[in-house]
Amino acid sequence: MSRTQSTPFTTTTLGSPRIGPNRELKRAVERYWAGRTDRAELESVAAELRRRTWSALAEAGLDSIPVNTFSLYDHVLDTAVMLGALPPRVAAIPDELDRYFAAARGTDEVVPLEMTKWFDTNYHYIVPEIGPETSFRLHPDKVLAELDDARAQGIPARPVLVGPITFLALSKAVDGAGAPLGRLDELLPLYRDLLGRLADAGAEWVQIDEPILVTDAVDDAAQLAERAYQFLGDSHQRPAIFVATYFGAPNGALPALARTAVEAIGLDLVSGSEQAVAAVPELADKLLVAGVVDGRNIWRADLEAALGKLAALLGSAAAVAVATSCSTLHVPYSLAPETELDDALRSRLAFGAEKVTEVVTLARALRDGRDAVAEAIEASNAALATRTADPRLHVAAVRARLDSILAAGFGRGPAAERRTSQDARLKLPALPTTTIGSYPQTVEIRQARAALRSGAIDHAGYVAKMKAEVAEVIRLQEELGLDVLVHGEPERNDMVQYFAEQLDGFFASQNGWVQSYGSRCVRPPILFGDVVRQKPMTVEWITYAQSLTGKPVKGMLTGPVTILAWSFVRDDQPLADTANQVALAIRDETVDLQHAGIAIIQVDEPALRELLPLRRKDKDDYLNWAVGAFRLSTSGVNDATQIHTHLCYSEFGEVIGAIADLDADVTSVEAARSHMEIVGDLNGAGFSNSIGPGVYDIHSPRVPGTAEIAAALRLALAAVGPERLWVNPDCGLKTRHQEEVVASLRNMVDAAKQVRAAQS
Ligand code: GLN
Ligand code: ZN
Repeated sequence: MSRTQSTPFTTTTLGSPRIGPNRELKRAVERYWAGRTDRAELESVAAELRRRTWSALAEAGLDSIPVNTFSLYDHVLDTAVMLGALPPRVAAIPDELDRYFAAARGTDEVVPLEMTKWFDTNYHYIVPEIGPETSFRLHPDKVLAELDDARAQGIPARPVLVGPITFLALSKAVDGAGAPLGRLDELLPLYRDLLGRLADAGAEWVQIDEPILVTDAVDDAAQLAERAYQFLGDSHQRPAIFVATYFGAPNGALPALARTAVEAIGLDLVSGSEQAVAAVPELADKLLVAGVVDGRNIWRADLEAALGKLAALLGSAAAVAVATSCSTLHVPYSLAPETELDDALRSRLAFGAEKVTEVVTLARALRDGRDAVAEAIEASNAALATRTADPRLHVAAVRARLDSILAAGFGRGPAAERRTSQDARLKLPALPTTTIGSYPQTVEIRQARAALRSGAIDHAGYVAKMKAEVAEVIRLQEELGLDVLVHGEPERNDMVQYFAEQLDGFFASQNGWVQSYGSRCVRPPILFGDVVRQKPMTVEWITYAQSLTGKPVKGMLTGPVTILAWSFVRDDQPLADTANQVALAIRDETVDLQHAGIAIIQVDEPALRELLPLRRKDKDDYLNWAVGAFRLSTSGVNDATQIHTHLCYSEFGEVIGAIADLDADVTSVEAARSHMEIVGDLNGAGFSNSIGPGVYDIHSPRVPGTAEIAAALRLALAAVGPERLWVNPDCGLKTRHQEEVVASLRNMVDAAKQVRAAQS
């Protein structure tokens, strides 16, 4: 065997953020898309960002540095390109970069690939399509170029690849092809060739990511892992192989991997468990890469506890390296720009850069003993201790109120009785028409927000402008003849941040951007303490809108599960407890809205599906508390107040029973693209309340015709009957243009009238 000897590394992360500390990549890519820069300029921004990332990691003291974790859009799409797996409609585009962005975003002629959630994070990847025509071929240029560039700067570079099992499991079969995983044997030789190329180019180590092994998505995961890594491990010309698992424990796949010839295995010891390691004797000759620093939440590590975990592993493996639990792609770059943080909270946080320091500190303790880092451990202990002292983390009054509501039990009356009171109060026609909440975020709205930020207008001036927007949206809806109106949400920058900014217990960072997909970034609020609502958050807006019309205006709230899903959440108590605190705040808001005369309140839970655990065995428990929190948030009102909810972005399959259990009076769901199948599915789950299956797809600029919407309604009617059917688009309208919205809603109202007329 001509395998080069590799030295085990001791300190690393599994990957890094790439959008740029000040979102430089976002700006460069968007300028390129707009035709305002050329490719050379884009490539130079990208190269500069990569180098800055590597050198920062090297300076911090990592002795093995991940490369090829950079991406102009998405690393799964990069992998599809590397394996020659772009669908024919995209592959036909001659220019490489045009092809890449066409796959991600589409063009006038080409439909883009789908996008979906990367495991249970808020990052979205591009879903590769594997069809009968896919013939894999290796295109290693990107990874080789990044490796060369890093090595030229003296970086101890470790190329990172999405592994073959994960790649295929995340892909989608198209054009009648069988399950993509069936083609594993075709991919393995390509990976073997690639390993040869990487070794030739001087790579001592390669990291192959197989997070799919921590899920139940692949039936014979252990077997496949053993087969794939036996094959790759046996190849002659290759770097040392480090197989990384993360986001959970690989269970049976761990001993399987350990039986192969790979040199290192990575475990997420933040979400997985270190006990499993002792039970795998085959690890005795491996390097164990211990992910003890949480790569996806923003809390400072408990160094003492992490050291304990590391110590427990020492006897079980040939060597132990310290790492983050996963790529730090999912946290912001650095705490440095956060000037508005108070000292206590700051001391408890660690963003990407701070996590690297923690890794280095722990590795030093392993090497030189605990005393060598005594100061850092003391600082970590002191920071943790501030949690007990910080009154914001234990607000007795809120805890007592919550406990007493939970102890007394909560719930609404029977759905049929609620329906009777609501019908009597609302007197809506059959097939009532409505929208999901937001209307287009117009240029005026954005300008007003910018003006407020820059100080060009004051708060009162801003509120006045937003109220003018509300009035315009109400006028438009009356003109269109909708039955249940909304205020349009112009005052909300984001449906979670808007509430986070008004609730105690949340901190909104200034620069805590995290890539969501492509050039899109989000700034998740940090939920660090007990959640307290000091005063009503939406009542002024909704009652203002209601004052302008005789039709009912829906109050709009974001549900507890979605608020959790789109925030960084405290880890010092169970998620379920945090969810209930948020639910209590929302519940108080619903009661205030009801008191102000609002008859319909919508509590959005678009993220219900997102937080679903990766392992089957954990799902029931999650759905239990998630549904419980929603019901807590919506059961403070009386029977005559109608509760709506809205869900989207999903194959609802696994959560369909939970949607029924939410027991909202009216549930609107994304359905336009799935041909109303959701309606039958909900019936099948025993749901008998009203339902508003989205009758057209708002993600597309296309204006749906009246006949087409009417056909969708008739399809839905066949499953639910006119007394249960609502008519609405499939999501909020904020990303659409005004003209599209007006034309589409006009057709929607017409379609509802037609179908109604045929009923009577
Ligand atoms: N009410 C929100 C809106 O209309 C719902 C958004 C969502 O479903 N993600 O924008
Ligand atoms: Zn939606």
